[in-house]
Amino acid sequence: MTALPSSQTQSLTQTSQKPTKAKFPCLRCKKNVAKNSKSVKCNICQNWVHVECEGMPAEFYNLLANQEKYGMSGVYWNCAACQTSAAKITEMMGQYENRVKEVEDRMTAGEAEIKQMGKEVKKVVESLHDRDDKIDQKLQKAEKCIYEELKQRDTRRANAIMHGVAEIGGENPTGGERRDWDRKECLAILEALRMGLDDRDIKFTRRLGDKPHGPRPLCVGFYSDADRDRLLRRARDLDKTKFKEVSICADLTWKQRTEEADMAKEAARRNEKELTEEDKTKNLHWAAVGAKGQKRLVKTAARPQQEPRTRQSDWSGRDRNPPRNNRSPRRTNDQEEQRRGLRRARSENSQERVNSPPSKK
Ligand SMILES: [Zn+2]
Ligand SMILES: [Zn+2]
Repeated sequence: MTALPSSQTQSLTQTSQKPTKAKFPCLRCKKNVAKNSKSVKCNICQNWVHVECEGMPAEFYNLLANQEKYGMSGVYWNCAACQTSAAKITEMMGQYENRVKEVEDRMTAGEAEIKQMGKEVKKVVESLHDRDDKIDQKLQKAEKCIYEELKQRDTRRANAIMHGVAEIGGENPTGGERRDWDRKECLAILEALRMGLDDRDIKFTRRLGDKPHGPRPLCVGFYSDADRDRLLRRARDLDKTKFKEVSICADLTWKQRTEEADMAKEAARRNEKELTEEDKTKNLHWAAVGAKGQKRLVKTAARPQQEPRTRQSDWSGRDRNPPRNNRSPRRTNDQEEQRRGLRRARSENSQERVNSPPSKK
C-alpha cells in the first residue's frame, strides 16, 4: 500500500479551500475535496475525506503532513471501510496462512512417511532377494538330491538282492575265495531257475553289511536289466528247487523302500476310512500292487494274494536277519508295522555303510 499514488495530482494532505467540482468526493460529506482543502487520502482505497468530516485529531494530521513534507513514509491513514476490510483480509490471510502451514506440515509428514515407506520397501525388496537366494539354494539342493536318487536307482536297476545264500565256511578264507564261492552259489541258483545265464552275464557279486548271525545278503549285479527282471519274475519258483531258503528281491534305494512302505500304509488307511458300502459289496479294496520298486496303489477286487516269493520278504533287502521261513503265516497288520518300523530304524542306522551303490569291480 503505497502512501502516495504518483498519478494523483493531489498530495496526501491539502490546506487551501479552492472550490472544484466533486472529482474527489469526501467519504463523509460527499462534497468535492478541493485540492487545497485540509484533507487526507485513504492509503488503501485512495478516496479522500475532509479532516473535519473525519474528526481527525490535529496531531495526527500534522504527523501525516510533516511526513509528506519531508518525503518520509511509515504512517498511513485508512478509512473506516478499508479498516474493516483490512481486518477481514488480515483475518482471512491468517486463515490462509494456517491452512498453508497445515498443508506444508502434511507435506512434511508425507515426505517423512514416503521416506519411511521407501526404507521399508527397500527392506522388503532385500528380504525378497534374500529369500530368492535361499529358494535357489534349496532348489539346487533338491535338484542334486533328485539327480542322486535317479542315478542310484539307475545304478541298482540291474541288481538283485539274494537272501539266505550260504556264505563260505572254513578258517579265514581270502577275499578271492569268498568272491569265487559267492559267484558259484549265485550261478547255481540261476541254474536251478533255468535262467540260461552264465558267468559272463554277472557283472559282480557282493555281500552287504557286517557279519551277521546268518548269511549276509548277496547283491548280484547283471549286465542286463532284462536278465535281472526275468530273475525276479522267476524267483517264486525257488520253492521248487533246493534253494528253498533263498529269496530274491530288487535292489531298491532307501527312498524307494520308504515310498513303498508308505504306500502299504496308505492302502491300509484307505481301506479303513474310504471304502464305500458299494466297494464293500463288490469286495473292492485298496492295495499296493506290482513288483518291488514298481508298486502302485489301486482299488482291486482281487483277494489278497499269497505274496509271491520276491515280495514275501518285504524287508529292505539290506537286513541282517532275513526271515528264514518264507511260508510263515501272514503277519497281522500290527506285527507288520512294528517290523517295518524296526527295520527302518536299523536301515537308517546303517545307511552309510550298507546302502552305498555297488562299486564296479
Ligand atoms: Zn467532507
Ligand atoms: Zn479507504
